[in-house]
Amino acid sequence: MSLFSSPHFDNHEQVVYCHDEATGLNAIIAVHNTNRGPALGGCRMWDYASEDDALTDVLRLSKGMTYKNALANLPYGGGKSVIIGDAKTEKTPAMMRAMGRLVDRLNGTYTIAEDVGTTPDDMTEIRRGTAHVKGVKGEGGDPSPATAYGVFAGIKASVKYKLGKDDLTGVRVAVQGLGHVGYDLANQLCVAGAKLVVTDINQTAMARAEKELNAVTVPLDDIYDADVDVYAPCALGATLTETTIARLKASIVAGSANNQLATAADGDHLAQRGILYAPDYVINAGGVIHIYHEGPDYDHGQAFAHVAGIGDVLLEIYALAESEGLPTHTAADRLAERKFRLGTAQQAA
Ligand code: NAD
Repeated sequence: MSLFSSPHFDNHEQVVYCHDEATGLNAIIAVHNTNRGPALGGCRMWDYASEDDALTDVLRLSKGMTYKNALANLPYGGGKSVIIGDAKTEKTPAMMRAMGRLVDRLNGTYTIAEDVGTTPDDMTEIRRGTAHVKGVKGEGGDPSPATAYGVFAGIKASVKYKLGKDDLTGVRVAVQGLGHVGYDLANQLCVAGAKLVVTDINQTAMARAEKELNAVTVPLDDIYDADVDVYAPCALGATLTETTIARLKASIVAGSANNQLATAADGDHLAQRGILYAPDYVINAGGVIHIYHEGPDYDHGQAFAHVAGIGDVLLEIYALAESEGLPTHTAADRLAERKFRLGTAQQAA
């Protein structure tokens, strides 16, 4: 596949193919848009079936980061990198150092961080080749608490908007997935007085939620039928399909999972049913906001206040959706485009 004719090419500013002979590294770095600042986005290591698949992924993911970083109010544009290979069997520290040196050649146009298939230890190796890296072991820590806090702020804002309630006392929330983000979120919801229905494949997490959070546990598939106000997907992507949407009793969908809509049309289906959808890449931006704040001058209060701003961004999106008659996922994209295209207009002037 050639780049400019790819259906996923969207005015990406720079796409660089990288190779390191000594370590066998094959990687692609894509910088989608830098109007707001240098591109920030993770490095995914994946055993892609083909080079075309890797290109498609990096084009799609880097564009997503432009939108996410803009709506997280970060002074960053969007970028991403992919390393072609099996992270379990092919990754070596030397390969990561080589990746760092290749990132460094972009002179700060792209800042690398961890993603699927890479770890904070890998970022430590990458740091040996470039200063343009975030998420180095010992400097950042787990972004999940910030993500959970952002989702909590997003649920509060959504409940206020949709149900007109100023607090979460008695609000019923179904949490799907009690992992790093989901359990922390469920705990915050419980403290705030919400009533929980939860599910997970992990029975230990379920038993713990029952005991510690007074949660009602249900089998995996029953979560879509739960009689709740909010459905919070915090496990897998693509759980919102025509079938599951028809089953939801919740009037709000707000959770941390990436790519919650199986297709863009499912965002329309939610709107048609009058269900308020908090766009996933907006409500789950706490992690990337946290990464932005990390470093020697890290201030927890400042970082978490920034994360709490996710609630205000969602309210802005809901207002735009209402005034322009758009589903919220489309309104989010429009708002993001306004934020990052502003720079383009200023440059052209
Ligand atoms: P995690 O792996 O710690 O937790 C996922 C949980 O979902 C696990 O407890 C797992 O047992 C459970 N699960 C798996 N399949 C399930 C199913 N069919 N039904 C119910 N539960 C199921 O992951 P996490 O870090 O908590 O992230 C959760 C989601 O949020 C993921 O989609 C992730 O991509 C997204 N996300 C996470 C962060 C972060 O900072 N961790 C940031 C942005 C987005």
